[in-house]
Amino acid sequence: MSKIKVLPEHVANKIAAGEVVDRPVNVVKELVENALDAGATEVKIEILDGGISLIRVSDNGRGIEPEDLPLAVMRFATSKINNYEDLFKINTYGFRGEALAAISSVSNFNIKSGNFELSVDFGKVGEVTPSSFYDGTIVTVKNIFAKIPARYKFLKSPVSEQKEIVKYVKQIALLNPDKSFKLISNEKILLEFSCNETLISKGKKIFGIDELVEVNYEEDGLRINGLISLPNVQKFRKDNIFIGVNKRVVKDNMIAQSILQAYHRKIPENRYPVASINIEVLPDSVDVNIHPAKMFVRFYNSNRIFKSIFKAVVETLDFSKNSIDEKIEY
Ligand code: ADP
Ligand code: MG
Repeated sequence: MSKIKVLPEHVANKIAAGEVVDRPVNVVKELVENALDAGATEVKIEILDGGISLIRVSDNGRGIEPEDLPLAVMRFATSKINNYEDLFKINTYGFRGEALAAISSVSNFNIKSGNFELSVDFGKVGEVTPSSFYDGTIVTVKNIFAKIPARYKFLKSPVSEQKEIVKYVKQIALLNPDKSFKLISNEKILLEFSCNETLISKGKKIFGIDELVEVNYEEDGLRINGLISLPNVQKFRKDNIFIGVNKRVVKDNMIAQSILQAYHRKIPENRYPVASINIEVLPDSVDVNIHPAKMFVRFYNSNRIFKSIFKAVVETLDFSKNSIDEKIEY
């Protein structure tokens, strides 16, 4: 008799959920990215207890048709790609169709758009029901991992979970200066960025310093934009080096290193600048599909990226140094 069974979808979803979401910040990231993919210009994030009790993301994007609500929480269901080839020209944050399935299998989940809503209770999908009108989409995630002790016990304190979320919202706001973001934690506004505010002004608020300059660098097929600090900013920690690839918040040691090297001899050893740098590359020169949470990416020509970032930072620093020197002369 056969011993191998295909796992029911709700079990498979819970297993897969571990790869996409392991902390509240991952949920915030997936929901914010969905809002931006839906063309939202205003994204509001509310959390309670560092997101452990509640995460709610509301957007003014194009919304979801009621008949699509059950598909939105189904695994591998996406409106963003149609075939394998599309993977090489991705210009949305999402494409795997996994996030909402994963999140709704490990929480009390509700998604509301237009005149309808759908709730999912730890993987048990309810019915689409009428609700009060909302012009956009609201996703509410309560009690994450509450019924999954093996995952719940890995949650950190509300304070540390909140810290991660604050950092993520700062990063995504700097990568999308043309969008408004608001983060409310335990009913207090923690962050508020308007689309009318300049990048520099956002940077000053976020990093708490005035000595910032804009980076605007272009080289065939590659654009590097963002903010970096002047060499007189010398931080003890390097956790304020924010990196984006095609406006996606990523972790990338190689890029961080190329930024740091550009400050070599300009600031002392063991001191660090602050930076928020976005690298815009053609979608076919980067693989964003090497990691389920898409926190890491792979460049097909990482050597070139390294050199370009180094050059972009060095040139920006030299240029601002010269313009400061000129000002002093006059
Ligand atoms: P993916 O983003 O990879 O497509 P998700 O599970 O995150 O997968 O979302 C599934 C689908 O639900 C999306 O493809 C999109 O069509 C829809 N969706 C999710 N969130 C939103 C939103 N905030 N606004 C509009 N549509 C959404
Ligand atoms: Mg998504």
